[in-house]
Amino acid sequence: MTLNNWNALLLDDSPSIIALMTQVLKNAGITQVNAFSNANDALTYLANNSVNIIFSDLNLPHIDGVEFIRLLQQHNYPGHLVIVSSMSAKTIKSVEQLARTCKLNLVGSIAKPITEQAVANMLTKASEYKKPSHRANVEKLKIYELIRALEQQQFDLYYQPLICNKTRRIIGLEALARLNHPSKGLVFPDSFIMELEHNALIKHLTYEQLDQVLQQIASWRDKGLALSVSLNISATLLIEKNLPDMIFELLSCYKLPADKLVLEITESSVIEQQADMLEVLSRLSMRGIKLSIDDFGTGFSSVERLIDLPFSEMKIDKQFVQNAVTDEGQRATLESMVNMAKRLGMSVVLEGIETLEHWNMACHLSGDILQGYYIAKPMPASELSDWVEKWQKATA
Ligand code: C2E
Ligand code: CA
Ligand code: CA
Repeated sequence: MTLNNWNALLLDDSPSIIALMTQVLKNAGITQVNAFSNANDALTYLANNSVNIIFSDLNLPHIDGVEFIRLLQQHNYPGHLVIVSSMSAKTIKSVEQLARTCKLNLVGSIAKPITEQAVANMLTKASEYKKPSHRANVEKLKIYELIRALEQQQFDLYYQPLICNKTRRIIGLEALARLNHPSKGLVFPDSFIMELEHNALIKHLTYEQLDQVLQQIASWRDKGLALSVSLNISATLLIEKNLPDMIFELLSCYKLPADKLVLEITESSVIEQQADMLEVLSRLSMRGIKLSIDDFGTGFSSVERLIDLPFSEMKIDKQFVQNAVTDEGQRATLESMVNMAKRLGMSVVLEGIETLEHWNMACHLSGDILQGYYIAKPMPASELSDWVEKWQKATA
């Protein structure tokens, strides 16, 4: 372990815990330890200093530990986080879930009273920690770069296969935006989707993509590949009343049936149901376009609210799939999500099948469709035919 140049931050309002933790961290080889009794002071320090690991209590004065986690997310804190608390195991689990949802690098939790061994375990885990692939702290593109990219058609679509769990055959693809930047190379959506949404530019990208996707489905159809494509639609577009007509026109232009197009809408974007959004969703689904609820499980919405919306597919977020491999409780949650979606007549996609372990687990669940790096990473359209051939040989 190379902990001697790490900077650790302690957040706890108990002087005795701070004294104990400082000693334990120093014994473990960390030379820089900064302790704070309230979250505001800790955040000020974080704004001006680079910190490798934070040990945070949950029960704090003014700003509590839960709010502190939210603020760490807003500040794009790139280091590790350990929760230290005397709260019940259930409460700690739910806060852990929040930290993961906020895409923080959560190492784990320590229950009070603290032991030297528990802290040492966390430090070992932190030093071996493999960053999740959500590319924390990415560089966001500036508005002028986005406008230029749109004008110069630097955006492209990569396609990731969706596999039928029963037959192992490819049934469709998810289209994912990429930006071919002249100097930065291939840029991923975390660097531009939110910026496009905030600057009312996402519509330009999505309308271009719809044309590109339908043209691509038609071209695969002409080569004998019957595939559907799922496209991500931002919430801000769901109140565009001309969206359904524009899609219907494109479908007829490429002579494609409506069920070849799936629109993915994140769970969090449909929590606040507006009349305009319901009108758009209803018109799309009435004409046979499939609607899929994306990142299910991260939006904290209740199932009852989803029943009234015209979704025919549920994509369970990758964190539930991945955590289910190591955690019995998470496995039970995942199974009940799958069963619930099936009872509602929805097909279920399990995302984030990244390893053989994920694959083995997912194959035994009753999810209909599997997606993840273990099957294939997103690829340019031109590579798909070769990939399909290889996949069919391997699974024949
Ligand atoms: P998403 O809709 O949940 O898309 C799946 C993301 O998970 C993709 O990241 C994909 O590359 C990644 N992924 C797939 N398999 C695995 C796996 O096994 N392990 C892990 N760790 N990740 C996996 P990507 O392409 O970076 O996209 C990130 C997000 O950006 C998407 O998440 C979606 O919300 C948004 N996005 C991407 N393209 C578009 C777009 O054209 N329009 C809009 N509105 N949003 C988009
Ligand atoms: Ca998606
Ligand atoms: Ca997703």
